[in-house]
Amino acid sequence: MARTIIAANWKMNKTIGQAVEFARGLKNALLQKPVEATVVIAPPFTSIGALSAELKNSTVCLAAQNMNPAAAGAYTGEISGEMILDAGCRYCIIGHSERRRLYGEDDAIINAKVIAALNYGLLPILCIGETLEEREAGTTLAILTRQLKEGLNNVSADDIQKIVIAYEPVWAIGTGKTATPGQAQEIHLFIRNLLSAMYGEKEAGGISIIYGGSVTAANISSLMAEREINGALVGSASLDLASFLAIINFDGQGL
Ligand code: PEP
Repeated sequence: MARTIIAANWKMNKTIGQAVEFARGLKNALLQKPVEATVVIAPPFTSIGALSAELKNSTVCLAAQNMNPAAAGAYTGEISGEMILDAGCRYCIIGHSERRRLYGEDDAIINAKVIAALNYGLLPILCIGETLEEREAGTTLAILTRQLKEGLNNVSADDIQKIVIAYEPVWAIGTGKTATPGQAQEIHLFIRNLLSAMYGEKEAGGISIIYGGSVTAANISSLMAEREINGALVGSASLDLASFLAIINFDGQGL
């Protein structure tokens, strides 16, 4: 059974002070009313250390937004998996569409990052998704197949359970356009079936496939009502604490 994961991708937002204030509020809210989902925050690198200290005894996990696949060396401006782990992260977002588009990351480099993350004991959140042009050209499934197969190249059946797949249609990121729950469910089922063909049905059933693309407090419940949607990767709507709390409490119950 796949775990429910709700992850906040803060991108290049929040100073250390702002990040700590958010984390303190989140921690206190979860102490009063725990939620069923695994809650993950992916702050900028500069805030990871401070958040790690602030969230020490809480259930909230930290993620990095990126990592370099090399172990160490002359890579000015880069951060290794070992450093991320050492700073307190459990997860690492890999292959976000902004990294693919703005920094030219291809499937080979993304795969190298996935393998390096696993080697350090980090849990990769592998992002895949089609652009609007690809969707309109009818190549969505071919693109997703390539991104998934190449991104997971050499990932063993043992390690696949450590991976979270984030389906993020690029046309829905930061645009206010969400895939309908039905559209997202259809793609998530396609991804699940592909994982099943690659790793077996039982293994595929345990992998969390989360949705990202203009998720808000207003649409999270209908997305989460779909069988194959195991959570969300949330950008803009994760920056405000009240909004993020409403998202992680999507079932209105807490624990
Ligand atoms: C994202 O960048 O991963 C994302 C889903 O952003 P937003 O929620 O703002 O669309």
